[in-house]
Amino acid sequence: MKLTFLGTGAADWDINAFTSDAPFRRFSGTLINDDLIIDPGPHIFHFAEHNGTPHMFDNVKNIIVTHSHGDHFNAETVKRLCVDKDCTLWGDPVCLVRLRKALGEETASRIAFVETSLRSVYQIGGYEVTVLRANHVTEYPEETARMYLIKQGDRILWWTGDSAWVPTESWNIIREQAVNTAVLELTCGEIAPDDWRSFEHNTLDMLKLMLKMFRKYDRFAPDVKYYVSHLARTLHTDHETLEKTLAPLGVTPAYDGLTIEI
Ligand SMILES: [Zn+2]
Ligand SMILES: [Zn+2]
Repeated sequence: MKLTFLGTGAADWDINAFTSDAPFRRFSGTLINDDLIIDPGPHIFHFAEHNGTPHMFDNVKNIIVTHSHGDHFNAETVKRLCVDKDCTLWGDPVCLVRLRKALGEETASRIAFVETSLRSVYQIGGYEVTVLRANHVTEYPEETARMYLIKQGDRILWWTGDSAWVPTESWNIIREQAVNTAVLELTCGEIAPDDWRSFEHNTLDMLKLMLKMFRKYDRFAPDVKYYVSHLARTLHTDHETLEKTLAPLGVTPAYDGLTIEI
């Protein structure tokens, strides 16, 4: 299973400040192989064009959504990928509410949407996807933010999306999985250890504690690899410093365009 990070920033990055010769993170968006997207954020086509691969989403058949915050879910992106195409959107019913509001009833009705439920497993294209609760909220109180386990063959990806810690009901399922790659969010970096966002996002200290626990109880597959993403512009050092900080923890910070094999 191949994973391409299309964006690795939190919501405080400004696409208008993008230049190709300075370090930059786009909003969230990830491509699995060439046919599954996690989070149709507003910048994924920007990535594709600047990467010299404008057609990289031509084979996308399914999209799964962690939550409807604007840095993860963009109606225009969904429209471009799904309207009148063989591409299905899977997520909380609020996704559909957002699409109707942004695109109108008629256009939204031309998008295939499947409502998914927590702690359920779905066959999505060639993947077995488990939907789990994340500790994160949006302005829609009825929406549940999600994290995902994505399995292809015997390889498992754990994608946390935005979440402070891991809710117990999700951990009770994740802890039994032979996860090969975990992508954890690290919104708050070294320079923001006591940030108020720690009730909805991870800090470096929280990451360290989680890793210690995963290793103490020997969770996941023997070859498990850890990555962090969703890095806030204003709460982190530069990428090279972050790499050095995370190296002793056995964690790799993601960057836009990083491709990994799971
Ligand atoms: Zn976010
Ligand atoms: Zn969010």
